[in-house]
Amino acid sequence: TEDMLRTSEKLSMAGQLAAGIAHEIRNPLTVLKGFVQILSHSETGDKGRYFELMESELCRIETITSELLFLAKPHGVSFEQRDIRVILQEVVVLLGTEAIMRNVLIECDYDDVVTMVTCEASQLKQVFVNIVKNAIEAMPNGGTLSIKVTRVHDSVHIQFTDEGVGIPAESVPRIGAPFYTTKPGGTGLGLMVSQKIILSHGGTLNISSQVGVGTTAEISLPAVFPTSP
Ligand code: ADP
Ligand code: MG
Repeated sequence: TEDMLRTSEKLSMAGQLAAGIAHEIRNPLTVLKGFVQILSHSETGDKGRYFELMESELCRIETITSELLFLAKPHGVSFEQRDIRVILQEVVVLLGTEAIMRNVLIECDYDDVVTMVTCEASQLKQVFVNIVKNAIEAMPNGGTLSIKVTRVHDSVHIQFTDEGVGIPAESVPRIGAPFYTTKPGGTGLGLMVSQKIILSHGGTLNISSQVGVGTTAEISLPAVFPTSP
């Protein structure tokens, strides 16, 4: 059986989020501070290793802050009518090399009925990148990610189905909560940000998963109907 969960019901409170961000950024900062102290006192020795570690901690801060910037951009967002298939295709091309390197085949099956949506294209792209990356990361031995676009009544459905490790039932309620990650280098921000973006587009994001079988992320967005000239 499938475990359906609604990530869209798990929006965090601002305070909780702020505390999480402070914590996530303080950790690499503490490490950096320690290394700066060591380096300022050491005359000789192998400093290269310290610089390497400092760089990786700085990268982590950079990743966290850039993922969060998408949340802090309510102004200057321009909504326009776009074909969802074109945006998806851009993401498939963008992540194509990474997929090939990891033995992941991306299959696309696009309905040819109405697939226009009103959106901020760069934000939707960010969502698709997050989901496709999660799928690739869930298949360490390779596999197939199938992306399916269909029109159901007044909405456009986009399904991303992978053959990855899946999500254990007990972890399911935590998916989409800020900073929840099971990956060594993960931020646990991807699905939280994605969910926010999809909600701001009047849509929904649901994830269903089965351990050992795979995971499906399903996005539903209001469809735009072509107006007669
Ligand atoms: P991150 O990718 O940085 O860990 P996300 O918010 O994108 O953060 O995902 C949170 C967690 O949800 C992941 O660490 C993983 O445990 C789980 N997850 C998300 N997508 C998938 C997937 N397709 N297959 C298995 N687990 C997933
Ligand atoms: Mg992710």
